[in-house]
Amino acid sequence: MAAASSDECGYLIRKSSDDGHMFTYDFTVEELGDKGPWTFHEEFQTNCESNPTSWLCEIQFRKVSDYNIAKVSLSLRRTDSGDNDVCVSIIPFIKDSAERPLFKSKTFDMRDVSAGHAIVEDLVEDVKFPHLRIHFNRKLYVHLSISIISCHE
Ligand SMILES: [Zn+2]
Repeated sequence: MAAASSDECGYLIRKSSDDGHMFTYDFTVEELGDKGPWTFHEEFQTNCESNPTSWLCEIQFRKVSDYNIAKVSLSLRRTDSGDNDVCVSIIPFIKDSAERPLFKSKTFDMRDVSAGHAIVEDLVEDVKFPHLRIHFNRKLYVHLSISIISCHE
């Protein structure tokens, strides 16, 4: 078990299976309204016996804007120089301080990810009501699951 890079982060669970490697993070983001943007920053390696890969994940959280838009910017970059392609699945599950699920719990799947390639996605939601903006800016619960798939048989 390794701690994630921020003192606000919880824990990391890593699992290997027959077809891949899964990394799971749980952490909270508190008081975005007061503190301004905050970035989750984590580097990890699969240590795969066939085709090891390494990765940098960054997720930037900002408070809800004056235009009611909540936006979380996610990027996952492959940082090794191996010549094999792998598949990646990213599942960010984010709830506000009232435990309301946000961003419709999207999954991002990408095939044929080569060395140096990055997956960049914005999660965007229109937060119309003031009390919902307060819940977002007060505290977010983040459950992040990243799977690196088809690097070994
Ligand atoms: Zn593997």
